[in-house]
Amino acid sequence: ETAANVHIRTVCCIGAGYVGGPTAAVIALHNPHIRVIVVDRDQKRIDAWRGRHLPIHEPGLEDVVRLARDGGAEWYRSKSENEPGSTSDEVEAARQPNLFFSTACVETIKEADMCLISVNTPTKKRGVGAGRATDMAAFEGACRDVAMNAKPGCVLVEKSTVPCKTGQLMKDIMEAHRPGVVFPVLSNPEFLSEGTAVRDLMQPDRVVIGCESTISGHRAAAALANLYAAWVPRERIAPINIWSSELCKLAANAMLAQRISSINSISAICERTGADVGEIAKSVGMDPRIGPQFLKAGLGFGGSCFRKDIASLTYLSESLGLPEVAAYWQQVLTMNDFQRDRFARNVIATLNNSLRGKKITILGYAFKKNTGDARESPALDVIRILLEEGPKSIAIFDPLCSESDIQRELSVLEQDFAVCTPAGPVEVLSDPYAACADSNAILVLTDWDMFKVTPQQTAPTKLLSPAESYDGTTPSDILRITSNFDQQTSITKPPT
Ligand code: NAD
Repeated sequence: ETAANVHIRTVCCIGAGYVGGPTAAVIALHNPHIRVIVVDRDQKRIDAWRGRHLPIHEPGLEDVVRLARDGGAEWYRSKSENEPGSTSDEVEAARQPNLFFSTACVETIKEADMCLISVNTPTKKRGVGAGRATDMAAFEGACRDVAMNAKPGCVLVEKSTVPCKTGQLMKDIMEAHRPGVVFPVLSNPEFLSEGTAVRDLMQPDRVVIGCESTISGHRAAAALANLYAAWVPRERIAPINIWSSELCKLAANAMLAQRISSINSISAICERTGADVGEIAKSVGMDPRIGPQFLKAGLGFGGSCFRKDIASLTYLSESLGLPEVAAYWQQVLTMNDFQRDRFARNVIATLNNSLRGKKITILGYAFKKNTGDARESPALDVIRILLEEGPKSIAIFDPLCSESDIQRELSVLEQDFAVCTPAGPVEVLSDPYAACADSNAILVLTDWDMFKVTPQQTAPTKLLSPAESYDGTTPSDILRITSNFDQQTSITKPPT
């Protein structure tokens, strides 16, 4: 096989979500000589990326986007206006915009030398494999758009998390539409975490690039590696086999989630014995073979990735005739459900086994701090169990999740509990004090810093089981609203 060296001038990123937007912005920032165009079918999302209020919240993202999207001059001006006397690198100030957002998918694909596919790959809701298999509809749709419009030789990059062997599916789609034309396919899974996306992209532990063992595959991988090498040390860029690359993303998420379920299983034993799960996590984590990360007992993992990726892994294992492997990973999900259920039932038991006439406050809805992402929040499972006890009301406050996003998530409870109707029991409030007023129990379900107890403050009124997200640092308590608020509030103690 012969293949020309790959020259990248225009990159098209399909999907302007939590992965596509920040990834494209960071690539554009560090590669001022290429154009990066992010396309999405969602006009509102694209408008937001073009405007002043980005559609997602990530620390540091605004600066990165502004510099690449608006060019240095404008960024420099606005920074100087905000911070009189501040200086900025002249070179940065002079840079031209090279990050664009558009709904013109077809036209952009036609121009591109490389297409990153970072569309959503949720769990299938219906049909074969429902609840476990990956719903590949959006991904296949994006592949078809590329197949019908891309220039010969355009490099296709899987950024979405997909089942192992998806690269073959992509090649089949390309071959069906453009027989005989070479389109190198790469797998480049994204390891960023929401809440630290910019930091993770700027200083990645590793960049995995999976390619086929062909000349065109290696050349395409080298071209992608060159984009990353603009800011990532070469030794962190790992070229590997394409199937290894696809599977390593599922394996990484499954193992992270497994640690959370492991420590949570220990917390259940602690509750019955008087052992302290925090002390155990600390001493276990001091073993260098284990390490301290991801050993915080809490409500279990949430968010749009861990559950769906483990479900995908179990489905893949079963389809490969490996039911024992599927059962092994399934247990990580079972433990996660058990943890939430136990927490909610502990709350009910603490409130004398009845929520009738009582108000419960939920502080924090996001699945972890520093993100406004309301998807797959542990809070939803807790709320579902609490609602079965017929509370007078449940008041929710989150500093970043929008009311409409929370209500959209709660709408799955609509049929059974009529939750957010004017007379419904659940209310989303923008004022934490109003949310806490006259409450019988305040549950801290996200480890936002604003909810933390400072050492000067008095001890929590009553201990419950862990009420924090999996990587949180909040003590596992019903607690007082803390110093970040400008005044103290009194909180009704749960009856003892
Ligand atoms: P998202 O839902 O926020 O964004 C996906 C976007 O793709 C949506 O805006 C949607 O409108 C768009 N889209 C879908 N089909 C399209 C098409 N044919 N043409 C144009 N646009 C299309 O999803 P996300 O959270 O960014 O995740 C994307 C992928 O990355 C998923 O596979 C996910 O598993 C993976 N991932 C996510 C994270 C994370 O923290 N969110 C981290 C690592 C990997």
